[in-house]
Amino acid sequence: FSQQLSTHPKSAEQRAEILANPGFGDHFTDHTAVIDWTQDAEGKGGWHDARVEPYGPIAMDPASAVLHYGQEIFEGLKAYRHADGSVWTFRPEANAERFNKSAVRLALPELPEADFIESLRRLVSVDKAWVPSGDGEALYLRPFMIATEAFLGVRPSREVSYRVIASPAGNYFGGELKPVSIWLSTTYARAGRGGTGEAKCGGNYAASLAAQIEAESHGCKQVLFLDPFNDNAVEELGGMNVFFVFADGTLVTPALNGTILHGVTRSSVLQLARDRGLTVQERKITIDEWRDAAADGTLTEVFACGTAAVITPIGELKTAEGSIACPAPGPDSVAMGIRAELLGIQTGTVEDTHGWLTRL
Ligand code: PMP
Repeated sequence: FSQQLSTHPKSAEQRAEILANPGFGDHFTDHTAVIDWTQDAEGKGGWHDARVEPYGPIAMDPASAVLHYGQEIFEGLKAYRHADGSVWTFRPEANAERFNKSAVRLALPELPEADFIESLRRLVSVDKAWVPSGDGEALYLRPFMIATEAFLGVRPSREVSYRVIASPAGNYFGGELKPVSIWLSTTYARAGRGGTGEAKCGGNYAASLAAQIEAESHGCKQVLFLDPFNDNAVEELGGMNVFFVFADGTLVTPALNGTILHGVTRSSVLQLARDRGLTVQERKITIDEWRDAAADGTLTEVFACGTAAVITPIGELKTAEGSIACPAPGPDSVAMGIRAELLGIQTGTVEDTHGWLTRL
């Protein structure tokens, strides 16, 4: 990585003002990490010109493939400041692996894991002052890859740019942790067999916005998607995986069947639940099972999980046919226990026995 530092970084006062109330995704640090990829006439591609440069607009040809066909993927992970000032990230290898799976699905080049992690390290090393230290706060890292070749034919781009930007982040849903209401979308599906549901590509999120508007008109911030071609099996939320706890102590989450995202938080929750001796099931759970189990009291907790919001209890599922109430999680709930442990590992107050942390 070569390095060109910004000549107009935010002042310490401007930064302090932003860090006092970071929000989510509103503010960006002073730099960005970039690696370019080009394919030669023989079809051999290679990564080159790794660099850190000032954050700013990207000059792009209006014919760039990404602007027309959405050939794009991204990732999301966080950098946490520990009490001694050191900065760590959580399971970046898992994000690198998922990024490469997404790349294959979107016909983009794979980026070696070492380059992915080094790009995060280089960016955080120049923008370290932007890593917040408040409770529940972190620096959200957003690696992404875009097709930059100026060409309107539909084929994989021969020029690609990989970038990382960073944004200080507070609590995703704002304020105190309280159970959220989610909207059950039956108008829209998120993914289908053979589609891109398992990939983290921009198009999936563009396609979820109409459902999100519908949700907001019903007072909900997130949408639950079902698989209408599989008995209305529960899939996931627009940006989080979903978990259920039953009265017998079993933890259930939808199996990875090709249409839901392989959440890093999901996999960590499963591991921490196994460590606690809970029975864990990755299986099909239909909306009818959810409704019945909520009605007869065998369902004791429902929660969503993801990097941005960690673990958030679901208090209510609103549907076109009425609402399903979910019990509020107490301090002794599975959701709250695993949440505290996971946050503790990430922020350095609980021992990292799984080797999940990487120092940046
Ligand atoms: N599902 C979707 C659709 C998502 O966008 C995300 C966020 N990346 C998740 C689940 C949770 O994944 P992770 O725990 O890796 O953040």
